Amino acid sequence: MKILVTGGAGFIGSAVVRHIIENTKDTIINLDKLTYAGNLESLKSVENSERYFFEQVDICDRAELDRVFNTHKPDAVMHLAAESHVDRSITGPSDFIQTNIVGTYNLLEAARNYWNNLEISAKKAFRFHHISTDEVYGDLPHPDEQEGSLPLFTEQTSYAPSSPYSASKASSDHLVRAWLRTYGFPTVVTNCSNNYGPYHFPEKLIPLVILNALEGKDLPIYGEGDQIRDWLYVEDHARALYKVVTEGAIGETYNIGGHNEKQNIEVVQTICNILDALVPKDTRYAEQITYVTDRPGHDRRYAIDSSKMSAELNWTPVETFETGLRKTIEWYLANQSWCKNVQDGSYQRERLGEINS
Ligand code: NAD
Repeated sequence: MKILVTGGAGFIGSAVVRHIIENTKDTIINLDKLTYAGNLESLKSVENSERYFFEQVDICDRAELDRVFNTHKPDAVMHLAAESHVDRSITGPSDFIQTNIVGTYNLLEAARNYWNNLEISAKKAFRFHHISTDEVYGDLPHPDEQEGSLPLFTEQTSYAPSSPYSASKASSDHLVRAWLRTYGFPTVVTNCSNNYGPYHFPEKLIPLVILNALEGKDLPIYGEGDQIRDWLYVEDHARALYKVVTEGAIGETYNIGGHNEKQNIEVVQTICNILDALVPKDTRYAEQITYVTDRPGHDRRYAIDSSKMSAELNWTPVETFETGLRKTIEWYLANQSWCKNVQDGSYQRERLGEINS
């Protein structure tokens, strides 16, 4: 297969590209604008493969999208390109509306135009896989609010996004499903929980805490730190996505999650404990924890029911939170130069997403 991956220089996209080049015979066309979040250094291990091609293109540029489809003639699209950081979406929603909504619309139209002109068997085999988030569902009851067993997000859960980021992703999910229903365009959608792992840009909780801890800086906890997320190791997500694009049924949605519900404060404390063992110093890393004002509109709990993925596509995560987190920390310790290069000039781990007025 020839797969056009959008956002292949980002955190999850680069894991998808590495997974496919290293484990299959497929060809990848990586289409990425290279925003602050896109880094070709994350693709060093595959960049010399004859099955890997890179196109620096903005998904908002329709003419360039048409050129890429006509040049490379892909059999499938995996659409990961997005603005992805909730705090940035609070500070400046505009790029989120442009890329996540307008860009997805452009990509759908470029892909549909290309697909319409394919011969019958290629047209039947074509897939457009839209990669989305569990944040579109809004938040779930928290153990503080409700006793007994708590609900999980299923593929039937109604959408109720809370942030500009999740609202823009929800909009793009609706566009993708409308293109299936109206035009018969062969789409499949996945909604995944929080990912973590190597090559994660240091604005997100886990890499930010690892790097701040090592530099002796504060480890900021939003609010009480009791928000719950369901963590999935990024390579488990990449395997799941490849299964969906190759074996998933047209028109279906698949929820992907790690069965690892953790409060943010537990995540930070676990990182500190692992660092105490791996990089000991005179004081405990947990002494650097500081509580800061909460994120506006912060969702309290996310948790995924991924039983459809395991029943229908025989996928389950390989990593537990403990094994995945240890691998992640070891990767950051061994790859300080990647961390320095991706942050240079663009971001110094400052607080984003506060509303001042
Ligand atoms: P990321 O921010 O690390 O990477 C996004 C990539 O998209 C970057 O390489 C960037 O250069 C590229 N990009 C941005 N705007 C573009 C544009 N206009 N044209 C072309 N390329 C553009 O994001 P990520 O964490 O890898 O997330 C990838 C996808 O998975 C997103 O759609 C996100 O919503 C979804 N998702 C993320 C998570 C998570 O925990 N990170 C969980 C579930 C779903």
